[in-house]
Amino acid sequence: MAQAFTQLPEWMYNQGALSPVVAPRLIRLNAPLAAELGLDAHWLAGPQGLAMLAGNSMPAGVEPVATAYAGHQFGYYNPALGDGRALLLGDVRDRSGHVREIQLKGAGRTVFSRRGDGRAALGPVLREYLLSESMAALGIPTTRALAAVSTGETVQRETMLPGAILTRVASSHLRVGTFQYVAARRDPAALRQLLDFAIARHDPQARQSETPALTFLENVVAAQASLVARWMLVGFIHGVMNTDNMAISGETIDYGPCAFMDEYDPATVFSFIDEQGRYAYTNQPTIALWNLTRLAEALLPLLSDSEDARPVLARQALAGFNTRFHAVYFDGMRAKLGLTTPQEGDEALFAALLETMHQTRADMTGTFRALSQPAVLAGEDVSALPAAFAPWLERWQQRLRHDGALSPAARAQAMQAVNPCYIARNHLVEAMIRSAVEEGDFTPFETLLAVLSNPYAQQPGRERYALPPGADERVRYTFC
Ligand code: AMP
Ligand code: MG
Ligand code: MG
Repeated sequence: MAQAFTQLPEWMYNQGALSPVVAPRLIRLNAPLAAELGLDAHWLAGPQGLAMLAGNSMPAGVEPVATAYAGHQFGYYNPALGDGRALLLGDVRDRSGHVREIQLKGAGRTVFSRRGDGRAALGPVLREYLLSESMAALGIPTTRALAAVSTGETVQRETMLPGAILTRVASSHLRVGTFQYVAARRDPAALRQLLDFAIARHDPQARQSETPALTFLENVVAAQASLVARWMLVGFIHGVMNTDNMAISGETIDYGPCAFMDEYDPATVFSFIDEQGRYAYTNQPTIALWNLTRLAEALLPLLSDSEDARPVLARQALAGFNTRFHAVYFDGMRAKLGLTTPQEGDEALFAALLETMHQTRADMTGTFRALSQPAVLAGEDVSALPAAFAPWLERWQQRLRHDGALSPAARAQAMQAVNPCYIARNHLVEAMIRSAVEEGDFTPFETLLAVLSNPYAQQPGRERYALPPGADERVRYTFC
C-alpha cells in the first residue's frame, strides 16, 4: 500500500507506534468494497488482514501515519487537532483508477490525541458503518466503511463500553482544517505543496488552469454546495459541521451524532452537544458556506499575485455556492415531485409543500414516498396523506398537467428512484446498537444494513423499516 501523504512536509504527519488490542474479532467486512478497491477479501478476513484492521500489526510496506489538521469547532478556532484516534494506512488505486485512502478509526492514541484515549466505542462504529453505507446506497458522495472490528477491550465513556475499530475509505481525508493548519504557518511553499497534492488527487483539470488555486476553490465550493443540497433532499443532518469535518473531496465525512430526520422540522437538531442548534437541518447550507469562507481565507495567498485582487476573487468563488446549491436543490425537488421541466412558480410550490409538512409534522421520507404512488399522482386516491395536504395536492396536480405526457406509472417509477423508501431512521439505528452492545447480537445490524443497501426498492416483509418511530420509540438526542 502506497502512502502518498508522506510527500507532504513532515510536520504534517506523524509515524507513531501501533497500539495493539487484546482480542480483535471481525464484525463485518465489506466484501464488495474490498473488490472495488482491488483488495483480497479472504486475506483481509484472515489472521494477517484482521491484525491490520485492528491496528495490531501491519504487513510489510504499510506504514501508517496520523495527520495534522486544525479547525473551527462550533465557530471557535483550534490550531491543533489532527488524527487523535485515526491512522492513515495508505492508499490504493481502485478498479476505476481512482486513488482511495484507507484509514483506521479508533486504533489508539497518537501524538494528536490530547486528552482522548484514541479509541472508539462499538455503538458509534456501527452507526458510522451503517450510515455511511446507507449514504453510498442513496447515491450521495461519502466516505465508505470497509470493515468493523471489535477489540475485546472496553472504553470509558459515560459508562464502560465495548470498543471497536472502523476501517474507513475516502478519496482523501484532506479537510478544510488541513488547509487551515498549513495556512497558519505562513509558509506559502508548503501551502502550494498541499494545494498541488489536493489538485492531483481531486481536481487534476485545475492544473491546466491559469489560476489553479482559484479553480480549485471554485470546484470545492461547487462540490460542497452539491453535497449539502443532496443532504437536504433526504433530510440528513450531519450534526458536527466543524471545518475539520468538511472534506475537500466533497464526500460526507465524520459520522458522529448525525441522523436523518423523521418529522419535517427545519429546526431539527439531534446532537446532544449542539445546544445552540448551530448545525440544525436548515442551517447546513449557511454553515457550509461559512466553512468554505475559512477555506478561501486559507488559500488567499495563492489566489492571485495581486494582493488587491485576492479578496475579490475569493468572494466571486464563494458566490458560486448559492448558485450551485439552488440548482442541485431545486432540480432535486423537481425530481422528487415528478416534474421533468422547470417552470415559474416551482420554488413556491416546494415551499408550500414543506410548510404543510412542517405544520402537520409529517414524516419527510414517508411523505415523498406517498406522493410517488401512482394512485396519488393520478389524483385517484390520496388517502395516504393527511387531509391538510388537499390544497397543496390540488396545486401539484395542476402543475403536473403542464408537465409533459408521462403516464402516472412512468412518473411514479421515476419518483421512486429518487425518493427513498428506507433511510437510517434513528430509532432503528439505536435499537440496532442496543442489541449489539447489550446482547452481542449483530443480527439487527446485518438486517438493517441489507435493507439500507437497497433504499429505493420496496422490500417485501420489511415494511416496518420504512415506518417512522412510534410515540415511545422516538430518539431525541444522538451522541458521538
Ligand atoms: P470530531 O468531533 O470527531 O471531529 O473530533 C474532533 C477531534 O477530536 C479530532 O482531532 C479527533 O481526532 C479528536 N478525537 C475525538 N475523539 C477522540 C478520542 N477518543 N481520542 C483522541 N482523540 C479524539
Ligand atoms: Mg472529525
Ligand atoms: Mg468524529
